Amino acid sequence: MPSCLSRDTWIGTNRTMRIIFIGPPGAGKGTQAEKIVAGYKLAHLSTGDMLRAAVAAKTEIGLLADKYMLSGQFVPDDLIIGIISERLSLPDCREGFLLDGFPRTIQQASALDVMLRENDSRLDVVLELRVPDAELSRRLVGRGRADDNPDVVKKRLSVYAEQTTPLLEYYGKQGLLETIDGLGEVNEVFERVKIILDKFI
Ligand code: ADP
Repeated sequence: MPSCLSRDTWIGTNRTMRIIFIGPPGAGKGTQAEKIVAGYKLAHLSTGDMLRAAVAAKTEIGLLADKYMLSGQFVPDDLIIGIISERLSLPDCREGFLLDGFPRTIQQASALDVMLRENDSRLDVVLELRVPDAELSRRLVGRGRADDNPDVVKKRLSVYAEQTTPLLEYYGKQGLLETIDGLGEVNEVFERVKIILDKFI
């Protein structure tokens, strides 16, 4: 179907990529996400960035999210699902998107399934960026973000293991999961990402 026929909703064309990017804190997801959205011309939906912007602007959402973020916990599912559902309805998502930091819980993944179904749309691939725990802690503590002190880092890693790793099975069963080794130079890792993503264009 020519792309101009399917521009009236945020559903993409056949060549449009809809990607979920999953990885623990410190895996290098943000760095790779920037390269992916630039290289494949996708809308970048980073829930961490959106929440940090809301915190900085002291919006109602920001004030609410701040205390969860600073203690290494997830913000409530309803809040983040609302943000993403609004964001996905904006026109730039019609050309494809990279979801970075969402979904992070099974409840968020189910909500996303409903949003996609309602738009007669589907995901192309779920990329997991995998890095061993010891390396993650080492990278995070050197980084200096407000939620990067050692106790909060420990909490974020354990919340990831408990709440987000079940998504790997969830998407694995649907045949959507591709795991990438996140160890090595930034460009080396991006080469691995490209090998996977080039299959979808
Ligand atoms: P990281 O992956 O390094 O933990 P992010 O920038 O993706 O960092 O997110 C920072 C914080 O924002 C998380 O620790 C969490 O409190 C909150 N957050 C981001 N995305 C979500 C989400 N999908 N659900 C719940 N909380 C989220």
